[in-house]
Amino acid sequence: MVLAQLGGTITRAIQQMSNATIIDEKVLNECLNEINRALLNADVQFQLVRNMQNNIKRIVNIEDLAAGHNKRRIIQQAIFNELCNMLDPGKPAFTPKKGKTSIIMFVGLQGSGKTTTCTKYAYYHQKKGWKPALVCADTFRAGAFDQLKQNATKAKIPFYGSYTESDPVKIAVEGVETFKKENCDLIIVDTSGRHKQEAALFEEMRQVSEATKPDLIVFVMDSSIGQAAFDQAQAFKQSVPVGAVIVTKMDGHAKGGGALSAVAATKSPVIFIGTGEHMDEFEVFDVKPFVSRLLG
Ligand code: GDP
Repeated sequence: MVLAQLGGTITRAIQQMSNATIIDEKVLNECLNEINRALLNADVQFQLVRNMQNNIKRIVNIEDLAAGHNKRRIIQQAIFNELCNMLDPGKPAFTPKKGKTSIIMFVGLQGSGKTTTCTKYAYYHQKKGWKPALVCADTFRAGAFDQLKQNATKAKIPFYGSYTESDPVKIAVEGVETFKKENCDLIIVDTSGRHKQEAALFEEMRQVSEATKPDLIVFVMDSSIGQAAFDQAQAFKQSVPVGAVIVTKMDGHAKGGGALSAVAATKSPVIFIGTGEHMDEFEVFDVKPFVSRLLG
């Protein structure tokens, strides 16, 4: 994961600064510039990087550094806090409760890993004793229903979809109603994706959302989309009330900075990350351990 490299670069920049005999503004700026480069390389959005630099400069007192306090610790702590703040939008995502019906709608571009993630999310809860169910409201991509059906069958999770119905809203509503009657406590609605952000996709998303009234809308984002993350996440958030983010393909060559951008753009927390193609390659996302690992 490229995130580890980011941690390495940041740690090295701080180390270099600590080694300097005199720590003045120039040395601190050099250190922060190095850190900025590392963050930009990891695909963190430019504006976020600039805000972070300004915040750190405000927090870190140059006189404390010059007086020989533990410089490395002071700066490292400031960076740790800033990265945590960037990943924490301040309010937790809606948390479904076992035994009480919740409707969770998944949105994202085609190929982001949405369908795979729906099954992972269902499987994760099923292992903990929940009664999840999957609804395929993706009528756009040929093969979408077959894919969901295959995944669901493998995980022994009930599913709903149609080969003939072309109205995603109708399928979504029927699926949700069916599973409400069956007392499922986690009804997961997979929606259509597109190759790019299109008005038609957003309109369809809005209609499915209005008709099914989900408790939570999860935006699924491929971590390898780089600097495009902020705009993409913002476009989804402007169409439907996204309440949580799941970042996929964190196992690949992705630069994890997109996660920070998605949080900033949607003002919603990352709740899970996808770390592989298999059903159980799925981890709860926790800000502090993630940032600790990032900084090495
Ligand atoms: P959708 O079009 O958004 O529904 O995307 P899919 O669920 O069909 O996933 C697209 C591809 O990404 C598939 O080949 C998945 O196996 C793969 N994929 C999804 N999540 C992950 C992940 O976390 N890691 C890796 N390596 N591959 C993933």
